[in-house]
Amino acid sequence: MHKILVIKFGGTSVGSAEAMQQVVSQIQIARQKWSQLVVVISAVSGVTDLLLSGARLASLGDEEGAYKVAHELDAKHRRIICELLQSTKEKQFVESRLDTHIQEFRSLCHAIYVLGEASPRALDAVSSLGERISVHILAARLRETHCDARSVLSSTLIRTDSYFQAANPDMDMTRELSRTHLLPMLEQQIVPIVTGFIGSTESGAITTLGRGGSDYSAGILAVALEASELWICTDVDGVMTTDPRIASNAKTLGTIAHNEIVELASAGAQVVHPKAIGVVMNHNIDLWIRNTFNPEGSATQVLPVIDVSTTQKRRAKAVTAVRSQSLIMLEGRGMLGVQGIAARTFDAAARVSANVTLIAQTSSEQSILFAVPSIVASKVVLELEREFYREFEWNDIEAVKVQDNVVIVTVIGSGLFATSEFVGRLFTALGEKNVDVLSISQGTTGGSISVVVSKADTENSVRAIHELIVGMA
Ligand code: ADP
Ligand code: ASP
Ligand code: MG
Repeated sequence: MHKILVIKFGGTSVGSAEAMQQVVSQIQIARQKWSQLVVVISAVSGVTDLLLSGARLASLGDEEGAYKVAHELDAKHRRIICELLQSTKEKQFVESRLDTHIQEFRSLCHAIYVLGEASPRALDAVSSLGERISVHILAARLRETHCDARSVLSSTLIRTDSYFQAANPDMDMTRELSRTHLLPMLEQQIVPIVTGFIGSTESGAITTLGRGGSDYSAGILAVALEASELWICTDVDGVMTTDPRIASNAKTLGTIAHNEIVELASAGAQVVHPKAIGVVMNHNIDLWIRNTFNPEGSATQVLPVIDVSTTQKRRAKAVTAVRSQSLIMLEGRGMLGVQGIAARTFDAAARVSANVTLIAQTSSEQSILFAVPSIVASKVVLELEREFYREFEWNDIEAVKVQDNVVIVTVIGSGLFATSEFVGRLFTALGEKNVDVLSISQGTTGGSISVVVSKADTENSVRAIHELIVGMA
């Protein structure tokens, strides 16, 4: 049996003709070692945002604005096609695909404009267009360089539920579909260039796996095809001690355990989607995070799960931040010892689909504090007021308070927080920068600690903690 490599290239990696050419070189190099190669790609960088902005304008009644976006999308892709492709035949083919998709975008925007609203299903149809265009460009360029490449729509491979905008794969069906479509291609040495981000329901409606979901698509396909390796290729040298955009002295982590990278990705480090890690975990697939633009440079290998409570190597590894959060506090003396308040609180949050990102509660149970993305905060407050209207009347609960513009800063590192030393240094470092810590929470396995700070303190907090991490390495 041949070994399969799945490589995923993100938006920046396919963001210009020059970048796409770099991707082509990487694929050619990988082909020398791997006879069976599946490539998953994102939309050209910025395109998914543009598509969604067009749909939003149309839903607000600005059809002209949406058509301007169509023009911009067309020009952006046409520029890459002109600079990258040389053969008239390939150019004409890809341009005809582009025309079709831009027309589809205009029709969808018109429908949204007429209806005056964009449903999650319509948004998925719109936002999937970026990947549906980019695969044609890359496959055409590969064919020009004598690589037998074929663009593949992942809606024919990844079967999902109908939870539009964050759909979940049906792994059994996906396995069957992917193997039926892709294995015969691989046996003929064809390189499938697969759209990231997209799936489809049983009835054929296009779904997306959530923003940044191309990593997840690559993980799903790696599992379905029983691949030996999965490479997530991006625009930095692997997983680093922090986002290099915040601290220029960030360093690549040579290795990171599955559970550590899941914590890091879930806590806001954009470098890889947490669901991509979740799906490949326990599947015996070697996972690497690499830099498309620096293939010989440092990279990160993701190692099996380590037991963070017993590990001897206690070290803070990385720090990250989740932005645009709100803190919600429920307080009242009548809450003391009353059973079920916490359950009712989080039930109310779940009813409005709010993802609770941090929880803290005092032992006296007189207050519950939690964080949610700011975008849903007002809905949560309304739902809490509805849920506890009796307790408000009786003054058992005095107030639901909200603090917007907060950020959750999380440090990850195996077993680290079993040692009090780091925790002490952490708060000293924040204190020295005059950062007010609004709340604290520790991961249950001792692999992470989070502090909530105000938005204005984000960079200062991340840099202060990062200095500690780099100093301890
Ligand atoms: P892609 O388009 O390839 O999926 P993303 O933009 O989604 O790439 O993710 C890569 C970006 O993640 C990097 O450019 C970097 O700024 C950011 N990032 C945030 N935290 C980290 C981290 N700890 N290590 C590496 N990159 C990080
Ligand atoms: N293009 C999609 C996004 O921008 C998916 C991805 O890039 O991973 O969210
Ligand atoms: Mg990404």
